Amino acid sequence: ILELSTRVQAIKPSPTLAVNAQANKLKAEGKDIIGLGVGEPDFDTPQHIKDAGIAAINKGFTKYTAVGGTASLKQAIIAKFKRDNGLDYKPNQILVSCGGKQSFYNLTQATINKGDEVIIPAPFWVSYPDIVLLAEGVPVIVEAGIEQGFKMSAEQLAAAITPKTRMVVINSPSNPTGAVYTAAELTALGVVLRQHPHVLIASDDMYEHIRMDDTPFVNILNVCPDLYDRTLVLNGVSKAYAMTGWRIGYAAGRADIMAAMENIQSQSTSNPTSISQVAAEVALNGDQSCITPMLTAFRERHAYLVDALNAIPGLKCVPSGGAFYAFPDASAAITKLHAEGKLKEANDLALAERLLEFGVALVPGSAFGSEGCIRLSFATSMDNLKAAVARIAAALA
Ligand code: PLP
Repeated sequence: ILELSTRVQAIKPSPTLAVNAQANKLKAEGKDIIGLGVGEPDFDTPQHIKDAGIAAINKGFTKYTAVGGTASLKQAIIAKFKRDNGLDYKPNQILVSCGGKQSFYNLTQATINKGDEVIIPAPFWVSYPDIVLLAEGVPVIVEAGIEQGFKMSAEQLAAAITPKTRMVVINSPSNPTGAVYTAAELTALGVVLRQHPHVLIASDDMYEHIRMDDTPFVNILNVCPDLYDRTLVLNGVSKAYAMTGWRIGYAAGRADIMAAMENIQSQSTSNPTSISQVAAEVALNGDQSCITPMLTAFRERHAYLVDALNAIPGLKCVPSGGAFYAFPDASAAITKLHAEGKLKEANDLALAERLLEFGVALVPGSAFGSEGCIRLSFATSMDNLKAAVARIAAALA
């Protein structure tokens, strides 16, 4: 019999995509399901960006490009880093990939050796640990619960670092919690990292533009510029410009690391799609006000949802700083429903199954390393959110 590799046996399919698939299956069977599982904006890609993609096709820009991205897209990314983040990069410090996911994949493949430790604060984006495992690294999970605003403290980081630590992941705003690190918190993490020059910093800024207030976005390099040589900044157009399907992400950092990542990419996917690169360039160089209507809607939904969830007994939801997710702690509801015999087991998976029976698809917190919570995406209409809240209230009553 064919044995699958130990590598692939160490990982699991993305649970968020699995919930989506399950919800779509039930919908196809005619069930009335409100999907709050998705991690993508419910808006269409702005028209001028779509037009740029169409024009690229019509002009015949449909062939291989440079593996690491076109020169003009790299210039647009360099300009974006300067404009939005005050960061300076040269073209050989930029790598364009097929989505932010590939950026992180390339990074781990290029820097992690077997047994190297990667510190990942939980709750985490589901893909970090599995992508680290694919690189034969060891995910070191640091629990950052609701009582600490879902953010890793400097003390926790210091305690997690060992001689084998190769990298720490900072994701702000966070998927799934929406937590945003303040300048002071990043400074404190930086103080710890300064003492450990062997540790790389992966700063995943994918949700940079989706924030619930107008405080300026801060990256660790803004407060600790001396960490420039070992910080890899990851970002992309997927979330800010509603471009998840176009598959364009990018990374910036030390030129030798970018060259190594490009090598990996050259032997796996080659260049990101040519036409998507043209669209991404227009997204980054074009009028940024196309983000505003999406942002306004996300903020309204967030304000509604946090209050509505907190009004349901058994749920505790803290307001988030960014991204488009609510991440309530549902442990009180789980304990109560289990005691009443309404849940097979006292865990978030059983709660998610019950919610699915009541017509709401969402992702249990354990998928993100945080048992007892649930993640609701508010990348859906206000009407859907209101109907979903009523169903959740009924399921938890
Ligand atoms: N980083 C975070 C925190 C995310 O939530 C996602 C998508 O869900 C990504 C990176 C990757 O985005 P993509 O590969 O779609 O560009």
